[in-house]
Amino acid sequence: MIIEKDRVVSIDYSLRDNGGNLIDSSEGGEPLAYLHGNGNIIPGLEKQLAGKKAGDSLKCVIEAVDAYGERDDSLVFKVPKTEFEGAEVEVGMQFEAHGEEGAQIVTVVKVEQDEVTIDANHPLAGEQLHFDVKIVEVREASAEELEHGHVHGGCDCEDGDCEGGGCGDGGCGDGGCGCGH
Ligand code: ZN
Repeated sequence: MIIEKDRVVSIDYSLRDNGGNLIDSSEGGEPLAYLHGNGNIIPGLEKQLAGKKAGDSLKCVIEAVDAYGERDDSLVFKVPKTEFEGAEVEVGMQFEAHGEEGAQIVTVVKVEQDEVTIDANHPLAGEQLHFDVKIVEVREASAEELEHGHVHGGCDCEDGDCEGGGCGDGGCGDGGCGCGH
C-alpha cells in the first residue's frame, strides 16, 4: 500500500538542523503516526513521503518555507514584565501562549527591568530541516479518523476502545487531540 491522501502512515524518523544537531527523533519511542494529506505534519515532508510504501527509507532536506515558515520579525515584541505575575523569567525560556491561532510556543529573547521581549516565531522557523525517515506502516484510516482529520490511538487493539496507556492515552479519549470527544 502506498502513501496517499487519507491513509495513516507510521514513520521512524530523526530530524537534524544544518549543523547536524539532533532536534527530534522517534528513536526509543513509538513511531510517529499521522494522517497523510491532512496537514498533520509539515507540507515538505508529506510531499517527500507521497507514493512511498512500508519498508522504504529516505533522507531529505526540507526548506523552511515547506517546514515551519520563514522568520517573521513582526512576531518579536515586548510585553510588560507584570504580565508574568512575578514569575522568574529568563532568556531562552519557552512557554505556550494562547492566541487567535491556537496554542503557540513563544521564546523569551530579552529580559529588561520592566519589559520582556518575546519571539513568537516557531522555534524552527527559518530553519532548513534534515530528515532521515523509515516508513514502518501504511494503512487505511478509519471513518472516524477521516472525520476528525487525525490518527486515533496508537495501540493495535481491534476496537479502538482500550484504556490505560492504549487508545485512551493521548487519543481522543482523554481530550488530548482537542477534537472534543
Ligand atoms: Zn479525534
